[in-house]
Amino acid sequence: MRDPNRITKCMNILTKVWQKQPDTRFNQLVENLKYEFYNDTNKGVKRNLLENDRVFSLQVEVSVIDLFHIEDDQFFNWLEKKYTDKVCKFAWVDKDTCIACGNCSSTAPDIFGYDKEGHAENIYNKDKNTGSVGIPESMHDDLFYASEGCPTESIKVSDKPKP
Ligand code: SF4
Repeated sequence: MRDPNRITKCMNILTKVWQKQPDTRFNQLVENLKYEFYNDTNKGVKRNLLENDRVFSLQVEVSVIDLFHIEDDQFFNWLEKKYTDKVCKFAWVDKDTCIACGNCSSTAPDIFGYDKEGHAENIYNKDKNTGSVGIPESMHDDLFYASEGCPTESIKVSDKPKP
């Protein structure tokens, strides 16, 4: 079952995007975003349909983007990354020095978890401690406090993906 809590998070992202282009009609916004998502990710289906133009009594070909089967996290993660969090940080844990104190995961539970050996690692958006997944600006406070609170300075933070 899909998590009902995602609805508020998704609407907050959509609100930020719409506020950046307040003159856009809602349905115009939705249609534009569907095209952008399709063009950026190549996910979804593009259908070319013949439509009756009532004004000119003609049949015209129109393109329609179908995102019916796209899961919300796919669409809204793309939207958040593209429009609301241009500034990303990258993070990883040096497991050789981590003492598994638990501070980082309690300070930033959406970013840090543990591997099977009990060492901390970056779990954000399936990063798997590779330091390659951008952490959005909205989470930088949590990341900062976790990093500052690490007693062994094992949390590495960078403006670029881990080399
Ligand atoms: Fe390891 Fe530092 Fe996290 Fe503690 S705060 S679990 S030492 S990375």
